Amino acid sequence: MSARVLIVDDVEANVRLLEAKLTLEYFDVLTASNGEEALRKAERERPDIILLDVMMPGMDGYEVCRRLKASSATRHIPVILVTALDGRSERLLGLDAGAEDFLTKPIDPIQLIARVKSLSRLKIVIDELRTREAAGEQLGAIDERRSADALLAAADAPARVLVVDDNQREAALLRRTLAETHNVAVHDEPAGGGSPDLLIVSVLAKGFDGFRVIAKMRSAEPTRHLPILAITDPDDPEKTIRALELGAHDVIYRPIDSEELAARVRTLVKRKRYMDALRATLDRGLELAVTDQLTGLFNRRYLSAHLEPMVLRASCGGDSVAVLVADIDHFKRVNDTYGHDVGDEVLKEFAARIATNCRPTDIPCRLGGEEFAIVMPNATGDVACLAAERLRCHVAGAPFVVRRGAERLEVTVSIGVAASEGRDETADTLLKRADEGLYQAKRSGRNRVVGKAGAPPAR
Ligand SMILES: [Mg+2]
Repeated sequence: MSARVLIVDDVEANVRLLEAKLTLEYFDVLTASNGEEALRKAERERPDIILLDVMMPGMDGYEVCRRLKASSATRHIPVILVTALDGRSERLLGLDAGAEDFLTKPIDPIQLIARVKSLSRLKIVIDELRTREAAGEQLGAIDERRSADALLAAADAPARVLVVDDNQREAALLRRTLAETHNVAVHDEPAGGGSPDLLIVSVLAKGFDGFRVIAKMRSAEPTRHLPILAITDPDDPEKTIRALELGAHDVIYRPIDSEELAARVRTLVKRKRYMDALRATLDRGLELAVTDQLTGLFNRRYLSAHLEPMVLRASCGGDSVAVLVADIDHFKRVNDTYGHDVGDEVLKEFAARIATNCRPTDIPCRLGGEEFAIVMPNATGDVACLAAERLRCHVAGAPFVVRRGAERLEVTVSIGVAASEGRDETADTLLKRADEGLYQAKRSGRNRVVGKAGAPPAR
């Protein structure tokens, strides 16, 4: 796993040292020697992780971090603050400024690599979600303001924190510190059940194997994304690294500092909520936005979003694209005679026959009412007319069985076909020609296929 790391430090020797260590592990390294340069490079180069020195003349590390976190272009990039060895107040300030993590000078190379790797893994998830969010926005599926509001509202709500620790004094401190804000459950051995927002587990426990708890949580589907904070020993780096490698998002050292604990928990919970909200908005939003609820086919919005670029490519010399517009004949009669429930059954069965008659790359849509369309990428008018004729036979060839077998209805369909041609073609002109074909098919007796302009009729 590689990543682009931006190193920011005012001392040239420090930059070179970190650069050498990271390059050795095949990370891609960028450097900056002051705050302004760091902000510029972060914005322009979009690194995956930023290693940020706190003490710099001019703009210090906190201010750089605050500005990074205030900009929507750089907010999602994890920041590791580099602080002095006993810089406890520095670390708290750093977390308040929005930093994800910190390292102390002199930097332990094993810790450095472990932290950078752990944050790279997180960054991959964030990037994936952001990509999907961008796609959703393009489709009009995601209202950015609404999702941002949801995040703000969720940020301060109490979280469910599960603590697994068999050290009584430590467990009591954890409960005392966190219970002010959160709902805390403390167990002295691994316990099942519940769905916490955060797991705090000791890898120093005598009565159970904390590493096993981390590994199990990380591999089980419902808890795969659960943030984990591991309690470790500052004098036992092996344990710290093992915890991070197994998938803990963060570690805290014994004896636990209550302010640091609160700050780290706040960061982890914030991140969890950010991810949850993004995921929920996306999954639901995308599905609602592109699917016709009755038939499960794509809807008109999806068709528009995909047809336009295909037609544009075709008009620039790319592969031809064809469209079928299909309308169930005399559908009103079905509704009038049998009622809307049976009408809906017919629509669903019709959609199923379309779907089973498509190539995997075709896009079957319900445009509304009893009108459907199929976009056929990489198809000429001839091929599309053959496909339309096959669909027509597939619909007329066997009756539609409705009311659990009580009724068998003869259903037919009229289809207009058009394929892209010429440089002036747009999605609108293409759909319009297919519509004209459909109109002709209806006028000349229904249950037939009419190809328009350049697409010769199939029969
Ligand atoms: Mg410095």
